[in-house]
Amino acid sequence: MAVIASLECSRCHHHVSAETPQTLCPLCAGSLYVRYDMDKLRQTAKREDIATRAAASPVSLGMWRYSSVLPDVTPVTLGEGWTPMLHSKRYPGLYIKEEGANPTGTFKARGLGLAVTMAKHYGLQHLAVPSAGNAAGALAAYAAAADIKAHIFMPQDVPFANYLEGIVYGADVTMVDGLISDCARMVGENIKAQRDANTPANQVWFDISTLKEPFRVEGKKTMGYELVEQLGWQYPDAVFYPTGGGVGLIGMWKAFEEMEQLGWVSGKRPKMYALQASGCAPVAKAFEEGKPASEFFQNAATFAAGLRVPKPYGDAIILDIVRQSGGAALAFTDEQILASILDYAKHEGVFLSPEGAAATAAYDALLAAGDLKPTDKVVLFNTGAGLKYTDMTAEAMHLKRPGTLPTSMPVGGIITPQ
Ligand SMILES: [Zn+2]
Repeated sequence: MAVIASLECSRCHHHVSAETPQTLCPLCAGSLYVRYDMDKLRQTAKREDIATRAAASPVSLGMWRYSSVLPDVTPVTLGEGWTPMLHSKRYPGLYIKEEGANPTGTFKARGLGLAVTMAKHYGLQHLAVPSAGNAAGALAAYAAAADIKAHIFMPQDVPFANYLEGIVYGADVTMVDGLISDCARMVGENIKAQRDANTPANQVWFDISTLKEPFRVEGKKTMGYELVEQLGWQYPDAVFYPTGGGVGLIGMWKAFEEMEQLGWVSGKRPKMYALQASGCAPVAKAFEEGKPASEFFQNAATFAAGLRVPKPYGDAIILDIVRQSGGAALAFTDEQILASILDYAKHEGVFLSPEGAAATAAYDALLAAGDLKPTDKVVLFNTGAGLKYTDMTAEAMHLKRPGTLPTSMPVGGIITPQ
């Protein structure tokens, strides 16, 4: 495993120590990246050892198969990562990275798995998160596994599964009449009130928000390692990534940089496509307008709940990566997203999350426009299991559970007497 050398600010490159829990850069409030001694890692971290180590383990190592490039601490794991790479039935170049196979059914398991691992390492006892839904579910699960108290704040109209998992895992759940931005404000107010009341340090909540602590990016970077390893240590031509907070996109770019430094991969990095819903598209709007950062997206509304992030904290980093890579940030309507869910379910056997379907809608649109060929190698992320969104997707389809059937009718071969 890798010893953390320091935490580096993504904006001003100031370094801080990882000996104690850190949130943002103390100088400029930029997000912090975990940095290792890469000269040393070049000697110790070998890509050939990864599969051997994973095969020799009696249990699934999941994303911890990359322990040689992750912090040297005892993992809190539920088997996250090493998700299937599905080859499309229709397009020879398309691979769907099925993140719905993670514990709690979404990619959030990676970032929160690592962030809770580090929280446990630091001895933190209370973690708080504002969430569009799935991060809350993942935090609740990993906090339960680590015997840490989770305080989760999410919009009251999140998928019902997110509410249920919060309760089931024993988290302190607050449903908010608002968006993730309102939830974030409430987390901040709670922490300030605790500090003002001189609450003992180990009882004050630690804010484990997207990009406001360094380890969620570090967990999500494993998606970058995985997709390259699963393609035989080669880059694809493009990566399609549904973007709410954008942590995975930022994490994958970091992974590519590290892998190049370690000599694990070479060649042209993939074009990165950040996909959003038209009802909440701050990054796509800023991309189209040529702006370096996004503006708060007013009246955010889409059934792709995970994309309802009106102003991602890492917007400038996301836009920079998308532009550097030659990709794009695009948005699609809820109608296009729903149509894509149904199309991929019927023709590929994959039940996409609405967020994942924003990516497939983009893929299909770029194919139709001739900007992409069916043979171009594309890794497209389905960030969550469609089954986590049964209520939202059914509502979008105007589908209701059938009412009680007449009792004299045969039901499933059994005749109910009446
Ligand atoms: Zn800074």
